[in-house]
Amino acid sequence: MSSFIPAELIRKKRFGGENSKEEILFLIQNYLKGEVSEAQIASWLMAICLKGMTDQETAFLTQVMMQSGVSLDFSKLQNISVDKHSTGGVGDKTSLIIAPLVAAAGLPVPMMAGRGLGHTGGTLDKLESIEGFNVRLDLERFKSQVSTIGAAIIGQTKDICPADLKLYSLRDVTGTVDSIPLICASIMSKKLAEGVQGLVLDVKYGSGAFMRTSEEAEKLARGLVQIGHLSGRKIRALITSMNQPLGRYAGNACEVEECLTILKNEDLNSPHKHLYFETRELSLILSAHMLQLGGKASTIEQGYDMCNTLINNGAALQKFYDICLSQDAQPNWTLPKPKNSELILAESSGFVESMNVEEIGLSGIQLKAGRKSISDTIDYSSGIEFFKKIGDPVQKGDPLFRVFGMNSNLFAGARQRLSTALKLSPVQTKTEKLIFKIVEP
Ligand code: URA
Repeated sequence: MSSFIPAELIRKKRFGGENSKEEILFLIQNYLKGEVSEAQIASWLMAICLKGMTDQETAFLTQVMMQSGVSLDFSKLQNISVDKHSTGGVGDKTSLIIAPLVAAAGLPVPMMAGRGLGHTGGTLDKLESIEGFNVRLDLERFKSQVSTIGAAIIGQTKDICPADLKLYSLRDVTGTVDSIPLICASIMSKKLAEGVQGLVLDVKYGSGAFMRTSEEAEKLARGLVQIGHLSGRKIRALITSMNQPLGRYAGNACEVEECLTILKNEDLNSPHKHLYFETRELSLILSAHMLQLGGKASTIEQGYDMCNTLINNGAALQKFYDICLSQDAQPNWTLPKPKNSELILAESSGFVESMNVEEIGLSGIQLKAGRKSISDTIDYSSGIEFFKKIGDPVQKGDPLFRVFGMNSNLFAGARQRLSTALKLSPVQTKTEKLIFKIVEP
C-alpha cells in the first residue's frame, strides 16, 4: 500500500479537502495496527466533525470499517433477510416485538443490538432480564438460529467491525461522537457487516434522542439511507418522535412485560390501553415496512394487516418464546419483580405541554435501570411507569409517574429529576405525532 504521511491527510481534512479511499484505508488500517497514533486519529476525527465528509468519503469510511472484520452473508436463505435499527431512546422496546413478528411472517431477522448508551436503553439489557437469556452467541450459532428459528438477537461481537469498536471509544473521550458522517459510518458499517439485505431505520428526534430536531434527524436519516442504497441494500428510514418516552414503561423487565402484553393481546380494555397502543403501533408499522422491503407484502397496509393477524393468532408470541428458549432462557422463565414502588403526583393542574425525555432517561439510571459506567450492575426489576403523555389533561394529585425497583433509597434521586421533567400548560396542548416523515433513497 502506498505510504502516506498521516499529518498531511489530517491537514487535508482540516482545510476542507476530500480524503480518498486509499487515504482513509491507510489511516484506519494503520490505526488498528498501532502505527498511526490515537492522537493522530483523534485530530482527524475532530477535523471531520468541523469540516464534514462528502457522501463518497462517508461511503468509503463505512466500507473500510466494515472490512476491518468479518461480514456475514444471509443472501443464500430462501427469503430476504431484514433488520431494524433505532438510533435510541427511552422506552424504545420495539425490537422485542419486531424480531419475532417479522420472523413469524417468514423473513429471516439477524439482529445485532446494543446496550444502553447514556440516558437511552438497550435491547440487550432488556433481554438479559429474562432468566438465562444469552446475547453472546458466537457467529456460527447466530447464523444457525436465524436459519432454523428465523430470528436471533445478539450483541456486536469483537469480530464485527473492530475498527468501529476502537474508533467509538476514542470518539467518546474526544468529543467527536455527534458528527453525522461518523455516526452514519459507525451504524452502517455494523449493519452491512451483519449481512442483511433489507434495513428499516427508526431515526428518533426530540428531547430524548441524539438528534434534537426533526431537521437534524432527517439529515442523519438521509446519510444512512444513502450509504445503504450505495451498498445495494433495500433501505428506508422512518423519522419518529422521542419527545416523550415510548409506551407505558421504561426499564428492563417492565419493558419485556409490556411487549408480552402486546404479543398476548392482553389489557385491551385497561385504562392504559393508549400507552400500549403507541408501542404496538410503532412496532407494527416498522414491521410492515420490513415485510414490504423483504417482498412479503406488496404494500405497507398489507404488511400491517399481516402483522395484526400474526399477533391475533399467537404466532408472533410463539416465535418470541422460541427465540428465548433457543438463546438459553430457562424453560419456565420469569421476570424479576420490584420489591418497592412509589408514585409521583402532579403538584398542579393543566395539560402536558412537553417532556424532558433525557431527564427521564437519567432518572432511570438513578434507579439502576441503566449504567453510569460500563462496570455498573443493573437492577433489572427497576423502572418508571408513565401515566400521562403530551396533550393529556392533568389534575393536581394525579399520578404522573411510578418509580419502582429493589432499593427504595434510590427513589429520592429519581423523584428529583422526574419532578422537573414534565411541563404543564394552562391551555389544551397538541398531542405528539408518532411518525414525522419517511425517507427513501
Ligand atoms: N450508534 C452507533 O452505533 N454509532 C454511533 O456513532 C452513534 C450511535
